[in-house]
Amino acid sequence: MSETLENLSSETRRFPPPADLAANANVKADAYAEAATDRLAFWAKQAERLTWAKPWDQILDWSNPPFAKWFVGGELNLAYNCVDRHVEAGLGDRVAIHWEGEPGDTRTVTYSDLQKLVSQAANTLLELGVTAGDRVMIYMPMIPEAAVAMLACARIGATHSVVFGGFSVDALATRIEDASAKVVITADGGYRRGKPSALKPTVDEAVARTGRIEHVLVVRRTGQEVAWTDKDQWWHETVEQASPEHQPQAFDSEHPLFILYTSGTTGKPKGILHTTGGYLTQTSYTHHAVFDLKPETDVYWCTADIGWVTGHSYIVYGPLSNGATQVMYEGTPDTPDRGRFWQIVDKYKVSILYTAPTLIRTMMKWGDDIPAGYDLSSLRVLGSVGEPINPEAWMWYRQHVGRERAPIVDTWWQTETGSIMISPLPGVTETKPGSAMTPLPGIGADVIDDQAQSVPNGGGGFLVLTEPWPSMLRGIWGDDQRFIDTYWSRFEGFYFAGDGAKKDSDGALWLLGRVDDVMLVSGHNISTTEVESALVSHPSVAEAAVVGATDPTTGQAIVAFTIPRGNVDAEGDAGEQLIKDLRDHVAKTLGPIAKPRQILLVTELPKTRSGKIMRRLLRDVAENRSLGDVTTLQDSTVMDLISSGLKTAKPED
Ligand code: ATP
Ligand code: MG
Repeated sequence: MSETLENLSSETRRFPPPADLAANANVKADAYAEAATDRLAFWAKQAERLTWAKPWDQILDWSNPPFAKWFVGGELNLAYNCVDRHVEAGLGDRVAIHWEGEPGDTRTVTYSDLQKLVSQAANTLLELGVTAGDRVMIYMPMIPEAAVAMLACARIGATHSVVFGGFSVDALATRIEDASAKVVITADGGYRRGKPSALKPTVDEAVARTGRIEHVLVVRRTGQEVAWTDKDQWWHETVEQASPEHQPQAFDSEHPLFILYTSGTTGKPKGILHTTGGYLTQTSYTHHAVFDLKPETDVYWCTADIGWVTGHSYIVYGPLSNGATQVMYEGTPDTPDRGRFWQIVDKYKVSILYTAPTLIRTMMKWGDDIPAGYDLSSLRVLGSVGEPINPEAWMWYRQHVGRERAPIVDTWWQTETGSIMISPLPGVTETKPGSAMTPLPGIGADVIDDQAQSVPNGGGGFLVLTEPWPSMLRGIWGDDQRFIDTYWSRFEGFYFAGDGAKKDSDGALWLLGRVDDVMLVSGHNISTTEVESALVSHPSVAEAAVVGATDPTTGQAIVAFTIPRGNVDAEGDAGEQLIKDLRDHVAKTLGPIAKPRQILLVTELPKTRSGKIMRRLLRDVAENRSLGDVTTLQDSTVMDLISSGLKTAKPED
């Protein structure tokens, strides 16, 4: 039998942390030893960074696995921790959010403003009959009210469920039903690609369909025409008229904070449940440790949407609990032009930028000259999340955005983990391009084979988490059995993440994509990530997706969908030559076993709304099947383009 997962690539480049950052880092190397000596004491110390109304009696109750309780008996209010306590500490005038609308309008929200808005929204929700434990859906554009709505729910103990503002009626209605929510908070619309994009009609239809919703609170953002029912209330006529006084009440550490449905790359969405004390402890600590946030001087910007877990943990709860000043941007990266992100970094002097590989690869495709036109010297820490980052994309990010100075933290985590789990520490770790490196202090992770044995350095297999962690999911909403089956049944005593990984010769961790996507070629389990990264390491390639398609001789064969860089001529003979070069390049980089049977040059790849490549659809195309569920696809016309390209391309060899 072959290995659980092949380790084909190797990487020799190393980047030590900048000396000044290392000297002044929030978290230094001793944190690993401290956490290893007494993991629970380590987390209790991090919990003390928060303000508790009642101390806990027990740090962790793991007597009924996989159902964990953290900081048992403790009580706190999350909105108080994210807002009021900063105002009480005299920081009311500090900017919490520099908001940048897509059309270029701006708002500055201080911590005092935030306290007032959150209190008003909390009072309005109470007036609408929302009480602790009720579920509230949030379906919003990227405007400050989205964060306010989440914090207002947390403040009164209502459980929020944010649905990405691009999802369909169907997606919203199913989630309203699954969560049995009674209120929706939305807006008339938001700006996308230079024009107002409506949200309210989707809410209207979803509300009509479910019959569960009692009230809809509507922020006026775009001023576009909206239909109106007797359930609807304008935010500016209710929230903005409400009393700004609200006394936050403390809730149990295990009080349900939010349900977030995963993006659905792999099938029916799951309502991931997170609770209060442990979740805030780990989001707050990791934000402080991984981004080295200095709240007095840093300007932090996370480009995620609030509808994803990254927006929850690293726009709302982590940064605000740490008193950060952050940028929030409403729109798309190419409006009005492809320099928009860099213009925002330049304008606000952003010092910490947290974005996704899909954006980095898009920027690579658009060309180096675009970031070169802006002053990016304020950047001092760069982060990546969402997919494995190809070493070449990592290098591009380092050179063209970080200007060879700013360290990159490649952060591995999931909706289910709530916070970052595996990542470099920017003042400690000597990084390798493409590796998430090591579990954070207090986190247990390993790579195991199908017999649940830890693989040696140099080996590949399944990524598992070996110890409970504070911000772990507490379950799947309404489906304990699915929670057990999905995450805790494959390997006894371990949390199974669903991702492949390897340990390199030094023991550093490399994420290799989803286990479901692994390709079995002539008895070798080959990861999509390694082949994609080999393709992206060719100077003519910006982005690539590979899948295993059924093959009569090898079981599965590798089919690659490749996007050339902006300046590359991929028409006619040049295209043929490029395809040949790329196949040879992969064979040379990873060995002949990884040579793609077929390479297609495409202009787009199918992605989820959160920007992840949907390989399952490409597999359908590569095997000439009709397409599976495309409802979470960002742009469904992409698939027609790719399918028609495939029909004209001929397999090689
Ligand atoms: P679904 O579970 O419905 O398919 P999803 O997994 O895409 O949705 P998320 O929880 O947002 O939803 O994504 C977590 C996954 O993203 C991880 O399991 C992993 O596959 C990938 N991922 C996130 N960060 C990284 C990273 N730094 N390196 C490699 N992969 C990553
Ligand atoms: Mg997932």
